[in-house]
Amino acid sequence: MRVVIAGAGLAGLSCAKYLVDHGHIPIVLEARDVLGGKVAAWKDEDGDWYETGLHIFFGAYPNMLQLFKELDIEDRLQWKSHSMIFNQPSEPGTYSRFDFPDIPAPVNGVSAILSNNDMLSWNEKILFGLGLVPAMLRGQKYLDKCDTKSWTDWLKEHNIPERVNDEVFIAMSKALNFIGPDEISSTVLLTALNRFLQEKNGSKMAFLDGAPPERLCQPMVDYITARGGEVHMNSPLREINLNEDSTVKSFTVASLDKNEKKELTADAYVSAMPVDLFKLMIPKQWKGLDAFSKLDGLNGVPVINIHLWFDKKLTDIDHLLFSRSPLLSVYADMSITCKEYEDPNRSMLELVFAPAKDWINRSDQDIVDATMEELKKLFPTHFMGDDKTNLRKYKVVKTPRSVYKAVPGCQEFRPSQKSPIKNFFLAGDYTMQKYLASMEGAVLSGKLCAESINKEYTKTPQNVSS
Ligand SMILES: Cc1cc2nc3c(=O)[nH]c(=O)nc-3n(C[C@H](O)[C@H](O)[C@H](O)COP(=O)(O)OP(=O)(O)OC[C@H]3O[C@@H](n4cnc5c(N)ncnc54)[C@H](O)[C@@H]3O)c2cc1C
Repeated sequence: MRVVIAGAGLAGLSCAKYLVDHGHIPIVLEARDVLGGKVAAWKDEDGDWYETGLHIFFGAYPNMLQLFKELDIEDRLQWKSHSMIFNQPSEPGTYSRFDFPDIPAPVNGVSAILSNNDMLSWNEKILFGLGLVPAMLRGQKYLDKCDTKSWTDWLKEHNIPERVNDEVFIAMSKALNFIGPDEISSTVLLTALNRFLQEKNGSKMAFLDGAPPERLCQPMVDYITARGGEVHMNSPLREINLNEDSTVKSFTVASLDKNEKKELTADAYVSAMPVDLFKLMIPKQWKGLDAFSKLDGLNGVPVINIHLWFDKKLTDIDHLLFSRSPLLSVYADMSITCKEYEDPNRSMLELVFAPAKDWINRSDQDIVDATMEELKKLFPTHFMGDDKTNLRKYKVVKTPRSVYKAVPGCQEFRPSQKSPIKNFFLAGDYTMQKYLASMEGAVLSGKLCAESINKEYTKTPQNVSS
């Protein structure tokens, strides 16, 4: 059967990939001229890549890792040492590490926390460890229940000193959802911690060896098209047309290359667009349906991704770094961490600027100036004296509405991949799956969507009654 999918981000491509595995024919329509959505990247005039976001793959991403295996591209993941590295604001230019030894979980995580004495006191570690026990023992049900409170409220409820936030969780919360711990739902942090502590390699990190559109999305497209599917760029969905019974009759699609519009019909239809854009396209006949009206509770959070090319090396650290700076979140020297961006003599820092709400409308120059001021604190010796490091060029990529803002209460707004409309389905990191707004969540949502479609359309009289 034919399935039209709007959106060639990871969710749309994953949905198409698993549909061809089930023997169906997906037709993917992408609005832009670049694959990947929030993992999209471009080359500048010198041929250097710049990206929508600095992207990290975790050991706790089973569906993503399985996808790399199925595409036969596992060697493109560059795994780093099993550590988490934080800048130390009280001692500029120094780092504090959580090193996970090669022993089973959760002992490796407990050992990493206990052996770090720079950031948390023993009392804080014990109180925090006790607070995590219900999450580890009661699993998903407990995590879902915690969606009523922010992370800061969860800490207070467990008598954990707020200093723990300042030391560790402002940085982690910004890294996970680009907002601070007073705003983020405790479900998000607890879910991440649960995976990191329960799975031996859960918090182990990998960088892709190049730009995601070429190194991850294109192999997905090749896989899909080799098996009869289609992927069309510059082809935005403009309208969802309905039959009298409110099922989908067709998608009106613009072809930006040919400057024309056409109607596409199929057996089933999927939106794999970001939630903010899908909301604008919901037909008025569907507006009263709970699954669609609830989407008003999901809104993309602003974030800015910055690339700074320097004339010298700033660091030799082959890893992600948690900046613990007020304006910045995580960053990495991509000239070391990523094979295709390698430069033995000069650094290229990729930095996530968050929370970005007060900065998203500021000029690129303002944002870079503010970032450079923060960097002077992180690298105190590099930006002064005769032999100081100079900025050669920069690129700023703003995403005013990125992943859904994971504030308390929004878990219940997340829709299932199967919508109330018989021939219409949803994929996207915001749809319900247990990995929240992440690449893993997007890939899993696409897989679940494909399974849901396959189930709906391959019902035989026998399995309907079973
Ligand atoms: C700065 C940043 C850093 C991040 N870091 C990480 C990280 O380290 N690890 C991690 O796991 N995740 C990270 N993420 C999150 C991750 O990128 C997303 O969760 C994931 O890529 C979302 O995929 P998606 O397919 O659901 O949505 P999207 O990627 O948004 O894809 C939606 C697609 O739909 C297309 N579209 C929109 N309108 C139309 C239309 N009318 N017709 C057709 N197509 C349309 C868009 O162009 C886009 O290609 C980060 C995100 C950002 C922004």
